[in-house]
Amino acid sequence: MSIKEKPVAAKIYSAEKPSDGQLRRFEDFIRKHYGGGTVEWVEDNDLTDGFKLEAGSDIYDWSREGRLRQLSDVLSSIEAEDSKKIIPMLKGAVEGWTPKALAEEIGTVLTVGDGVATVKGLKKCEYGEILLFEGGVRGMVQSISDKELGCMLFDDDGGVSSGSKVRRTKMSAGVPVGEGFIGRVTDPLGVPIDGKGEIIASDHMPVESPAPAIAERQPVNKPLKTGLLAIDAMFPIGRGQRELIIGDRQTGKTAIAVDTILNQKDQDVICIYVAIGQKASSVRRLVKTLEDAGAMEYTAVILASASDSAPMQYIAPYVGCTLGEYFMNQGRDVLIIYDDLSKHAVAYRSLSLVLGRSPGREAYPGDVFYLHSRLLERSAHLSSERGGGSMTALPIVETLSGNVSAYIPTNIISITDGQIFLDTSLFRSGQRPAVNVGLSVSRVGGDAMTPCLKGAAGSLRLELAQYREMKVFTQFSNYVDDEIQKSLRFGEVLMSILKQEQYQPYSEWEQVVILVAATSHCLDGLSEDHFEETLRKLCDGFAKERSDVIARINSGDKLTDIDRQAITDYAKAGSYAE
Ligand code: ATP
Ligand code: MG
Repeated sequence: MSIKEKPVAAKIYSAEKPSDGQLRRFEDFIRKHYGGGTVEWVEDNDLTDGFKLEAGSDIYDWSREGRLRQLSDVLSSIEAEDSKKIIPMLKGAVEGWTPKALAEEIGTVLTVGDGVATVKGLKKCEYGEILLFEGGVRGMVQSISDKELGCMLFDDDGGVSSGSKVRRTKMSAGVPVGEGFIGRVTDPLGVPIDGKGEIIASDHMPVESPAPAIAERQPVNKPLKTGLLAIDAMFPIGRGQRELIIGDRQTGKTAIAVDTILNQKDQDVICIYVAIGQKASSVRRLVKTLEDAGAMEYTAVILASASDSAPMQYIAPYVGCTLGEYFMNQGRDVLIIYDDLSKHAVAYRSLSLVLGRSPGREAYPGDVFYLHSRLLERSAHLSSERGGGSMTALPIVETLSGNVSAYIPTNIISITDGQIFLDTSLFRSGQRPAVNVGLSVSRVGGDAMTPCLKGAAGSLRLELAQYREMKVFTQFSNYVDDEIQKSLRFGEVLMSILKQEQYQPYSEWEQVVILVAATSHCLDGLSEDHFEETLRKLCDGFAKERSDVIARINSGDKLTDIDRQAITDYAKAGSYAE
């Protein structure tokens, strides 16, 4: 140990007063290691077996607890690949263990409140290190200055008060991960909150980890189907893509995420739903929906509700991402939903303000962009050498009065590969899902679309853009000729096929049949009433008559003209609508 310059006023805690000889030995020790100082005895009746020496910010714990803690540290550091080897390794560790009077770095709490504690001492602490407070409360270092540390607390701060002692753990935050989390609801620290018993974790992984490098990735080339025609036909999502769902409150953002999860049944995709700052009751309802549909068999839910502390809400998406990485690294496909990142940014803002960071635009701290970029960059489609797994992210952001140019929405739009913009007025007018075709975009998913669906969707977006313009144009005109009337009717039909009830995803062949029938003007004469029902009848009827065409569509190849003709012939005949 290096000699420290400053002499210290050391204190020795024990139940019995040390003898003069013992005190002298302590003084020698202090002189040797700290260059001088005084030693004073303090009576502590809890320490019946051993003593504690406190010198500056170092503590030499020779009490029974301290020695047991050393033993437990030794035992928990054992790693055995083979479960049969663990007993001999444990025996070896216990036999070879001798307690040492190690200097532990100990700090003191200055202030505590709002989920944040400031700590004095612990000069060598690192950013992101986990600290252990008295009473077992855990915290994470978030700001370091030469005077004090700012630390967010993950547990109830009940046991911590000004003057409490804090220990370094020299570890960064990590969480348990594994297959056991599928089908379960946990808090951000991996503790189950669904009352279904303990979860056996397969591994423990750091919460923050670097995103895969460029060489470890491959282009997005496999589709991840949402089952929603409005998205799959116009803004297709690929595995490994990050597609933002953005809109005002109550515009069906969560509904799109849930429908996407439901559509992953039998697709070998693991879904992770991270709820941040939501009402626990709405998440409970969502879990019930997933359970009823059998979707919890492949879904894990992580909940940091509105009543959870800001640190819990802050860490939740990183924890979900870590669980996703565990599966992605095994070569599996993962879908992760962050619902929603605006509440995440608000939690981070309140933490940063309490930590005394200078507020910037909209009072968010300067690193709020990095907060989300480092999270979303971890989604990827890994190269074949890395196992070929993928993690598709659907972050959700809430806007205020449709303002997409606010700080957090623009940040996240620039990090993601596209956005699905949900419009309040469309939602109110009954166009659900309320996808705004003009403002939505998917930058990489087109490559992942199957040739068949691509061919069927054709110029749908363009036709809808024309319809919108024509509608505005004719709004104030008294006279609309037949030709324009027909075009308007065609546009209405195209808008109507995009309407879809919740929890009723279309399969790929259904989407192809509907798109081909609508774009070749076969549905123009259909009545507006029960439109969606009629479409389902069309699909069911077609499936009964032409299962050969459906088999060819399912093979994913390009749609042949003959098959296209078969669909239009059937749709034109109109017998299904009766
Ligand atoms: P919040 O801002 O509160 O999180 P949200 O944008 O996530 O809201 P949802 O909760 O998904 O919106 O949906 C709002 C309401 O609209 C719900 O009652 C939901 O059932 C209904 N809804 C959403 N999508 C559809 C749809 N396609 N068809 C019919 N109803 C829908
Ligand atoms: Mg929602």
